[in-house]
Amino acid sequence: MKRNIEQLVTQMTLEEKAGLCSGLNFWQTKPIERLGIPSIMMTDGPHGLRKQEGPADHLGLHGSIPSTCFPSAAGLACSWDVSLTHKVGVALGEECQAEDISILLGPGANMKRSPLCGRNFEYFSEDPFLSSEMAAGHIEGVQSQGVGTSLKHFAVNNQEHRRMSVSSEVDERSLREIYLASFEGAVKKAQPWTVMSSYNKVNGVYASENRRLLTDILKEEWGHEGFVVSDWGAVNERVQGLAAGLELEMPSSNGKGDGKIVEAVRNGSLAEEALNRAVERLLTVIFKAVDNNKPNATYSVEEHHRLAREVASESMVLLKNEERILPLKKEGRIAVIGELAKAPRYQGGGSSHVNPTKLDDIAEEIKKSAGGNASIAYVQGYEIASDEINEQLEAEAVRTAQESDIAVLFIGLPDRYESEGYDRTHLRIPANQIHLIEAVTAVNPRVVVVLSNGSPIEMPWLGKVKGLLEAYLGGQALGGAIADLLFGDVSPSGKLAETFPMQLEHNPSHLNFPGEGDRVEYKEGLFIGYRYYDMKKIKPLFPFGFGLSYTSFEYADLTVSNKTLKDTDSVEVTLRVMNTGDVAGKEIVQLYVQDVTSSVIRPDKELKGFVKVELLPGEAKTVTFTLGKRAFAYYNVQIKDWHVETGEFNLMIGKSSEDIILTESVTVDSTIALPKNFTRNSTMGDLLVDPEAASIVQALLKSKPSSEIDENAFSSEMLQAMMNAVPLHALLNFSGADFTEEMLEDMLKKLNAG
Ligand code: BGC
Repeated sequence: MKRNIEQLVTQMTLEEKAGLCSGLNFWQTKPIERLGIPSIMMTDGPHGLRKQEGPADHLGLHGSIPSTCFPSAAGLACSWDVSLTHKVGVALGEECQAEDISILLGPGANMKRSPLCGRNFEYFSEDPFLSSEMAAGHIEGVQSQGVGTSLKHFAVNNQEHRRMSVSSEVDERSLREIYLASFEGAVKKAQPWTVMSSYNKVNGVYASENRRLLTDILKEEWGHEGFVVSDWGAVNERVQGLAAGLELEMPSSNGKGDGKIVEAVRNGSLAEEALNRAVERLLTVIFKAVDNNKPNATYSVEEHHRLAREVASESMVLLKNEERILPLKKEGRIAVIGELAKAPRYQGGGSSHVNPTKLDDIAEEIKKSAGGNASIAYVQGYEIASDEINEQLEAEAVRTAQESDIAVLFIGLPDRYESEGYDRTHLRIPANQIHLIEAVTAVNPRVVVVLSNGSPIEMPWLGKVKGLLEAYLGGQALGGAIADLLFGDVSPSGKLAETFPMQLEHNPSHLNFPGEGDRVEYKEGLFIGYRYYDMKKIKPLFPFGFGLSYTSFEYADLTVSNKTLKDTDSVEVTLRVMNTGDVAGKEIVQLYVQDVTSSVIRPDKELKGFVKVELLPGEAKTVTFTLGKRAFAYYNVQIKDWHVETGEFNLMIGKSSEDIILTESVTVDSTIALPKNFTRNSTMGDLLVDPEAASIVQALLKSKPSSEIDENAFSSEMLQAMMNAVPLHALLNFSGADFTEEMLEDMLKKLNAG
């Protein structure tokens, strides 16, 4: 329905306008009945609906109505499949329509700076490109159903420790290239109806009252059309927040925030125009929700459970498969060991915790898939609620493993080890589980471990097991998916969306996590995740992008559409991918870009493209990537824009960040001349890399016959290396009276004019 929102705003009283800027209660906006403005309801998010009909909270403490629990983002991202994420979004949107929810709070696009962050299970990746693509798929899927999303937590919210007061101190390039980039792509591509501002401060200013983030960057630079909602309870100074671009305070402030806004408009400290603009944004989304509402919508619980199983099987990552221990044969005696096989850990704790419509019993699903020729024996092995060894349970597990042809151990992090609200302090699994792995592998060498965890763990026991399947937090249908993968009904096709370090201390944020008091300095800068391990040549336990399959793939015929291009052009990169094994499978092909020489510090290579391709045995397909300016650019803080430095770039096609198979190079020419800013402190080296400056300097030096600087100085490597560090002003001393202040000034004018 067409409405004149501006006109509607003129009919609202100041109190009504201020009132619309905070919630009615925990989950709803305020209705204004006399003007026909309805209330809409939001709910968490992201991987299912947490619609609370009784008592409300933002920590997942109280119950919620049943909804499908899909794999959480950490796992979903390992599918590297945007269309699958879209499908999940569609299903979530259908459930929202059926439950009369207008906005689903998610997805989360924060970067995994440290594996310790308690909420990493809710985030996609350590790489901004992968994260923003996945987030965009989720947003587009949900919104295709006429339901809004809330891209969160904007921004630089990468730890739970002191999350409501800490300031994330991050330099401008890292902010742009890593932390904001993960949101930027999703905002520009998918236009989430809302963006949720985070609890923390960014460089000293609360995200919820950060004008630069909420208005200058999000609304003006990226063109976000929806509204910004505060994280629950994140508002510090309501009026400052509104002026900065925070339209909606959640949950209800019980009139306090509204009163402050009214007062500020009355006393002139807040322009009513700013309030009007906020109300226009709010009304636009509220009416969009109303217009797209589908009364009497329903969804199929069974169909969504089936989708959850498909998604889980596409997301789990086969990390080790020695002697091809997997897939298991559907025969013989199989021991299924570990309480996590009966009481699975399938989602994380906190505000995203949903009440599933049904829940797989993993051991039962394994039995179902195995069929009548195999005998499956389940034993508990350890108590998930404790770290203590239960000798009786362990002895029983050892006996069962001894009597079996193969043992599948279900291992992982208990709920209490990782959750929203606090961070981990180490990467270990409980001691009783480690002990169990050791005891079982001592009696049966044929052991496969299936992991349930939201974030990386250390694996000192890895050498003792033959197979390892990373199931992450696989959602309510994880059991069926695990069975499909273990028996090879589906070939594993997930790849890690984050690096697993050998040990916590190797992580780049280690020395500065979780910070000191209310300050956490991002001293590793751009070097998050594989960007760091690559440069430092530190071997991770499993690299970013890694994952095995039951089949094998080969890559060939890498070509580029043009070997040279301008930064305003794009280039197409194609290659052929073949399934050279004997089962069907899916391969994730990754494209990394490397700037061969750069005058600024850059990571060795960065992910700029990926595609998941399905291939039958013997089948080959051509895959194509299109790269534009952003694939080659870095954020130039001087011009406050993305910039490509003219030069050669390698386009590297890999099976993981560590396994580059094919490389081609292109030359990109910049169409932007950076402003010249030479000063008397610029060095000869600075000048000589700039072709125009170099010719001016050389001409000048050559025109001074009595100069102490030898005419041949630039032909001598040694002299040149020394000269590179000499600032211009030093020429005044080194050249006696030949080079004067006037000449220096004149030269600077010429240099900066060039
Ligand atoms: C979380 C958000 C969540 C909100 C509402 C907050 O504590 O950080 O992600 O959407 O609560 O439950």
